[in-house]
Amino acid sequence: ARHFLARAQARQDLAAFLAIDADATLAQARVQDQAIAAGSAGPLAGVPIGHKDVFVTRDFPTTAASRMLAGYRSPFDATIVANLADAGCVTLGKLSCDEFAMGGSNENAAVPAVGLDAAQPVRNPWDTARIPGGSSGGSAAAVAASLVPGATASDTGGSIRQPAALCGITGIKPTYGRASRHGMIAYASSLDQAGVMARTAADCALLLSHLCGPDVERDSTSLDRPAEDFTRQLTGRIDGLRIGVPREFFAEGLQDDVRAAVQAALKEYEKLGATLVDISLPRTDLAVPVYYILSPAEASSNLSRFDGVRYGHRAKDYSDLLDMYKKSRSEAFGEEVKRRIMIGAYVLSEGYYDAYYLQAQRLRRMIADDLQSAFTQCDVIAGPVSPSVAWEIGAKTDPLATYLADIYTLPASLAGLPAMSTPAGFGAHGLPVGLQLIGNHFEEAQLLNVAHALQ
Ligand code: GLN
Repeated sequence: ARHFLARAQARQDLAAFLAIDADATLAQARVQDQAIAAGSAGPLAGVPIGHKDVFVTRDFPTTAASRMLAGYRSPFDATIVANLADAGCVTLGKLSCDEFAMGGSNENAAVPAVGLDAAQPVRNPWDTARIPGGSSGGSAAAVAASLVPGATASDTGGSIRQPAALCGITGIKPTYGRASRHGMIAYASSLDQAGVMARTAADCALLLSHLCGPDVERDSTSLDRPAEDFTRQLTGRIDGLRIGVPREFFAEGLQDDVRAAVQAALKEYEKLGATLVDISLPRTDLAVPVYYILSPAEASSNLSRFDGVRYGHRAKDYSDLLDMYKKSRSEAFGEEVKRRIMIGAYVLSEGYYDAYYLQAQRLRRMIADDLQSAFTQCDVIAGPVSPSVAWEIGAKTDPLATYLADIYTLPASLAGLPAMSTPAGFGAHGLPVGLQLIGNHFEEAQLLNVAHALQ
């Protein structure tokens, strides 16, 4: 823990941490020392990790990178934080992200990182003028720069896979419902899923095994399935594996450098005994519009709890209750969060609900069905994570441009499937490229082995 705290201190320029408290970390570490001495240690005793700042923690403040929650401290730990602590993990601190996990570049982080005066995007350790991806950019940058050996993160539409890809590390989101959402600050509840990032698939498998597990009393979408050992299939053998390659993932919009790196990785799999199967996911183009109707709809409802009354920022001067709500929310939410609340309120409003929300729900089902029929022809699906390597901070000013870059990660999210990113070499400017692997429901162990085989 001391080693990693010193690393985090030395790399404050990356803006990866939103909270560090060495006393709290070392107190947790001492508890693990005692457990080891007493012979009662858990399987991950003393392993220090960082948590994305959307998971509430008792020992550290939690902000979801929003001014709305600046200084907030939860009275309890999120289930996944508690699960990892029960296994022996020690918390190094809280990691930056886009405000309320809305974004794909970490430029929407709205509170200052540790050691800095103003809010700043997290920096990509491969080139600090570039974004690390998002929304879990703090988790990805911290792992890539060895400020933490592993980190938690969340993925609603790609927020684990895309930053993992752009920072050259491994990240996995499990099947929807595997990881508890209790104590995870909600963005779009039907899509939100916790997962992990680490340098390797083997490390991810270890962490994920302890993070997941049923929590049916506290999360109504938690699956009542026993915890699994996701390391159990890490043989590195994949002979006979059928890898589906969706042709729509290689169409217009994919940068040539990323295409070349992904195709080279697929060739390596063939050498290891896998067969590549040409498949089609015909509604890929619809994933972006469907997601950007459904997720703002859910966000507008979820974020109504931030009213200045129960917790969060409250405006100083106001005339009446309604004015207090309006001012508190106007002052504390960032631009992207406001945009999504507006879109969500619009698509849910009377007269538009059927045309947008209901229609998007129907298409979501069809996108999920397309993936299910693809799995009759292959065991896993592989393709790019992001259409390009990490871009320069400030380079994309149109929000639509970042939305469109989510095209390859959204289908698995909408279908609730497990999906991951594993390093696939380098593209333009010597920057990392990720290979996306999508599995059928509950196939995390297989997916991790496929990634492991190339590592
Ligand atoms: N980039 C996507 C968005 O902006 C995904 C975010 C996420 O997975 N939390 O919504």
